[in-house]
Amino acid sequence: MSCFPLYYHPLYSEGLDRSSRFPVDRYRLLADRLSVLDLDGKIDTKLPRLATREEILLVHDEDFVDRFLSGALSEKEVRRIGLRPWKKEIVPRTLRLVGGALDGLEDVLSGKPIAGNMAGGTHHAFRAEGSGYCIFNDLAICAEVALGRTGVSRILVLDLDVHQGDGTAEIFADDDRVFTLSLHGKNNFPFRKKRSDLDLGFEDATEDEEYLSSLSQVLEKMSGENFDLVFFQAGVDGLKSDQLGLLHLSREGLRRRNEQVFAWRKKFDLPLLIFMGGGYANPIDDTVDAFCDLFLAAAEESV
Ligand SMILES: [Zn+2]
Repeated sequence: MSCFPLYYHPLYSEGLDRSSRFPVDRYRLLADRLSVLDLDGKIDTKLPRLATREEILLVHDEDFVDRFLSGALSEKEVRRIGLRPWKKEIVPRTLRLVGGALDGLEDVLSGKPIAGNMAGGTHHAFRAEGSGYCIFNDLAICAEVALGRTGVSRILVLDLDVHQGDGTAEIFADDDRVFTLSLHGKNNFPFRKKRSDLDLGFEDATEDEEYLSSLSQVLEKMSGENFDLVFFQAGVDGLKSDQLGLLHLSREGLRRRNEQVFAWRKKFDLPLLIFMGGGYANPIDDTVDAFCDLFLAAAEESV
């Protein structure tokens, strides 16, 4: 029985130019591998819808949104985002990517314990500009949509990507309804960090035991808070073989990280939405393996 909704669209890979420095194939490789490994059919892979302009405007400035949609961002703005060279499919790709997160949000709001999107977690995007491979902030858009519903008054953004969630932190800096929590490499991008509600920066080459014991303490600290929903930015770029991370986490360490998060979620019966996040290992197989572990574990948790 398929219990875990996971959104995926071919545009996640195909909407990016193959000559980009970004590992464009990781989405396609992950979808292929999951379809082989999910022997019991626990993952319900679904096509995401397009996010609407109105949904994006809940967070982002109209001028920025419209210039992106019409292909009119400046060269400087595009350079700050990266993912270059852009092709015109970057627009539908971005709208599907945000749409996948919004579809997953509907699933958890309507009773699924966990849902996920096989892309996104675009935490470096600010209200009026993109940055670091991120155009629109899917975490923030989902938070605004969720907070507009009855029964959702407080959300935890648990950002375990190796890079600080600076965009999300800034967007919700003065908003008590969204608690931003970021565990990241102290010396990683972004070099000028924003202030999350709780930041934990790790030294270079931090290994599993130290990381996992800090995570456990942080989750313990969050146990007294009354959240209605958790957004898990589950980047696997803390892996030792990652080219853009400085931590030395192992595949097993990341598995245990996911276990801790899922166990904590279960304890408080909190709906949880997974945003994929970063992963740039060399070889890229290490990233794909770690994401397979994540989504297969999520599927097991959803039974
Ligand atoms: Zn990252």
